[in-house]
Amino acid sequence: MDTSIKTTCCYCGVGCGIIVNKDKRGNIQVQGDPDHPVNRGMLCSKGMNLHYTVMDTSDRLLYPEMRYHRSMPRQRVSWDQALERTAAVFGSIIKKYGPEAVAFYASGQCLTEEYYVVNKLIKGYIGSNNIDTNSRLCMSSAVAAYKMALGEDSVPGNYDDIAAADCIFVAGANPAWCHPILWRRVEAARAANPALKIIVSDPRVTQTCAMADIHLQINPGTDITLHHAIGRAIIMQGYTNQAFICLHTNGYEAYRKKVMERTVEEAALICGVNAADIYTTARYIGEANGFMSCWTMGLNQSVVGVSKNLSLINLHLITGHIGKPGSGPFSLTGQPNAMGGREVGGLSNLLPAHRVLNNEAHREEVAAFWGVNSISPKPGLTATEMFEALEDGRLKAIWIMCTNPLVSLPDARQAEAALRKAKYVVVQEISNKPETLEYADVVLPAAAWTEKEGTMTNAERRISYLARITDAPGEALPDAEIICRFAQKMGYTGFDYTNNEEIYKEHTRLTSGTNTDISGLNYSIIQEHRSIQWPYRNGKGTSRLFTDHQFYTSDKKAMIHAVADENNSVPVSPEFPLILTTGRIRDQWHTMSKTGKVNKLKQHIREAFLEIHPEDAVERGIRHGDIVEVLSVTGNVRVKAALTDSIKQGVVFLPMHWGKILQQDLHRANNLTSRLLDPISKQPDFKYNAVTVRKY
Ligand code: SF4
Repeated sequence: MDTSIKTTCCYCGVGCGIIVNKDKRGNIQVQGDPDHPVNRGMLCSKGMNLHYTVMDTSDRLLYPEMRYHRSMPRQRVSWDQALERTAAVFGSIIKKYGPEAVAFYASGQCLTEEYYVVNKLIKGYIGSNNIDTNSRLCMSSAVAAYKMALGEDSVPGNYDDIAAADCIFVAGANPAWCHPILWRRVEAARAANPALKIIVSDPRVTQTCAMADIHLQINPGTDITLHHAIGRAIIMQGYTNQAFICLHTNGYEAYRKKVMERTVEEAALICGVNAADIYTTARYIGEANGFMSCWTMGLNQSVVGVSKNLSLINLHLITGHIGKPGSGPFSLTGQPNAMGGREVGGLSNLLPAHRVLNNEAHREEVAAFWGVNSISPKPGLTATEMFEALEDGRLKAIWIMCTNPLVSLPDARQAEAALRKAKYVVVQEISNKPETLEYADVVLPAAAWTEKEGTMTNAERRISYLARITDAPGEALPDAEIICRFAQKMGYTGFDYTNNEEIYKEHTRLTSGTNTDISGLNYSIIQEHRSIQWPYRNGKGTSRLFTDHQFYTSDKKAMIHAVADENNSVPVSPEFPLILTTGRIRDQWHTMSKTGKVNKLKQHIREAFLEIHPEDAVERGIRHGDIVEVLSVTGNVRVKAALTDSIKQGVVFLPMHWGKILQQDLHRANNLTSRLLDPISKQPDFKYNAVTVRKY
């Protein structure tokens, strides 16, 4: 008999509900879940084609593999052999070099339960904090800014706010392509309210700009200048909410002084936009009853990413547009469960339930809960730091789980050199495609979407359940089970869960009494309500935070930070005169190990390309379709040129999805990106790299 099972899309942080229809032969089809509050039946091109990624198992890893030496081919082994040897190698490295010589590098696509067990394993039992995830590349600047401004990593609003807003500022993001179902809501809001004002800041004219009343086509790296100028114009035009500032914030006077340092006209020149558009933006924000801002990587992936975030959040704090319908600073999550990972503390500086490593009381609470003596206070290595430590020998072994760092990390050739030098590399993966496999001493086949159960949290704090619907091929196992089996081989107690819900319940107990409290939650409740927004108290989720304007700081006031107006990226030079920015295309996801299997999704854009302004191209004798070489201090890329005046002169754009093709890495955008980091969030600077371009 045919069955229909409800689950959640495994791609982006929008978190759409999906119904999987399975026939008696095991074939599946997907459709949007009309009852899901996020997507109300809609799916984007990626979600709509998810069944192809499940049905096509031709690339799946089926059995554990192992090799004793890099010069030897890997051979099929049993799970026991793979995990026993890995436990022995990890054990001997830890004994000889200490627990900080091993690390786990995971993913914002892991389920919450998977994050929880791997975090518990390394922090509670191995005794190091060397766990980080690719969320470091995605959300960490937003996380740090929320903490600094609001007291905790807490997205205040929800998707329903879009319909209630009358001004939406999209900063450095292209949700029309990257968060399509969310963008459908903006389109619906505009249809219902033609007076809704939409402002977009982006150096490129993207699909998102098609609906913009104002497109602030800024020069890359000038976001803080722009936000400060809007702040100044808000102040000058009398649109501040002085009562809110007085009662609920600190730091306004220093902020006012800071934004008055530069006139709107001076700022406009630096940003490369019209001053009049800045004044109009300020007026739209000032006159709005509901003002929302949405942003993603354009602000986060920067060497000043935290300051960019804070300068945008400030616009809410000086106008009081937070904690009420239609208002709030809303960071759009890139990955499906980056937020769930933070909830369980799955980054090198965090502990479960938004506790932090540098707080002794938090460490003691978690250690007592896990029944271990202590948790090390020393922050672990972050994503790029792990690969630097592998290269210089401080780190000996790395376990890579559900991510493809040789395409996604900045300065990817350095990451490759690091894996070459590593003493021991474990790759836990679903596909035989990722470039990391070349360096793997042990390969552990993992179960994919529909083959395991668990939970994820989307961008609006909404926890959704994912059902196990199909069997994993071969001997592939759910990621949490792999980690727990390994922990047991290491001789650790505390990992004898019989199912994922036991892990989930343990995680929920740790949230008791915290701002993310979901201690009353379980799988049945989530399934019954289809999804729940945290915190979950008195039998109810919470759609909006800070409605009482009491923030999570010690005096309950939000902090307006007078951040420096600076950009510390590698500057352009006569040798590297253009600014490279990188990003996504509509129909591909990350490094394409899933979407790359779907022919329909290739029809949109088939190959990597370099967007370049016609005047920059003419200067270099480049015509549309020519092969060009792009060079930076770190490496080179060769792709076809796509001439377009939708990109600002002096700026070029490369999509980030492509890795090696036929052993050649010449389409890999991250050959060119630098390892410069934001000093607070440790998020890399993917959006601003000095390059040169020449006809090849
Ligand atoms: Fe999946 Fe995101 Fe598309 Fe929704 S918008 S179907 S979550 S990829």
